[in-house]
Amino acid sequence: MHSRLIIAIDGYSSCGKSTVAKALAKRLGLQYIDSGAMYRAVTLYFMKNNIPIPFPEQLQNMDFNFEPVLDKIHIDFRVNPSTGLSDVHLNGVDVEKEIRSMAISEQVSHVSAIKAVRVRLVELQKKAGMMGGLVMDGRDIGTVVFPHADLKLFMKADPMVRAERRFKELSLKGTKVTMEEVINNVVGRDYEDTHREESPLRKANDSFILDNTHLTQEEQVDIVMKEIVRLKDSIKQGF
Ligand code: C5P
Repeated sequence: MHSRLIIAIDGYSSCGKSTVAKALAKRLGLQYIDSGAMYRAVTLYFMKNNIPIPFPEQLQNMDFNFEPVLDKIHIDFRVNPSTGLSDVHLNGVDVEKEIRSMAISEQVSHVSAIKAVRVRLVELQKKAGMMGGLVMDGRDIGTVVFPHADLKLFMKADPMVRAERRFKELSLKGTKVTMEEVINNVVGRDYEDTHREESPLRKANDSFILDNTHLTQEEQVDIVMKEIVRLKDSIKQGF
C-alpha cells in the first residue's frame, strides 16, 4: 500500500521493537529489516575468528585495524521459505538462530561501539532504504540511518517487564539462562548503547514515543496505525 514509506523504530533492548516492526510491515506491505541482526552477525564473525572485541574502556586506545576484517564480512537478508520471514545471512550462511544466543548478546554492544563497524553497517542500511518501502528497527535508525524517515518511533518499557519478556522468549526456545543473567544483559546493553561515543541510542526529537509496559501487541500496532493516519498529510512519500 505505502510502497515508499520509511518507518524507523528505535528503543531499548528487548522492547518488542521487532514484533511491532514485523506487524507494521505486514499491514503496510513494507519490507522489514532488523539492523540489530546485522550487528549480531558481525559479532558472530568476530567471535568465530578470534577478532579482538574491545571493552568500552579499551575502545579509545585500541590499535587494531578492523577494515580488512570487515572486508571479509558479507551480510544480507534472504526470505526463509518455511517462515516467510527474512533471515540474516553471514557470508552466505543463515545465522538467524545462532545470533540470538546469550553469548552473542553479551558481546554485541562492545562490537557495535566500534566506529568502523558502524560505518559499514550504516552504509548497508542506507542502501537498503534507498528505494523506500521499509520498516527498520535498531538504535540509531531515526537519528543516523534515516533522519528523514516518514515516521519515527521510540519504544520503551519498564526494564523488569522487558527482562521478563526476554526470559520467557529464551526459555521457550530452550535456552538455559537465569533471570539474573537476562536482567544484567538487558540493563547492561542499554547502558552501553546509550553511553557509547558513536551514534548512541537516543530519542530523535521528532519521534513518537511508545511505552509498551502495559500494552498488548495489538494495542501497540493500533496506536501506531492511528499515528500514521494522523501524519497522513505530512508523510512525504504519500499513501
Ligand atoms: O536489536 P538487538 O537487541 O538485536 O540489537 C543488538 C545490539 O546491536 C544492540 O544492543 C546494540 O548494541 C546494537 N545495535 C546498534 N545499532 C542498531 C541496532 C543494534 O548499535 N541500529
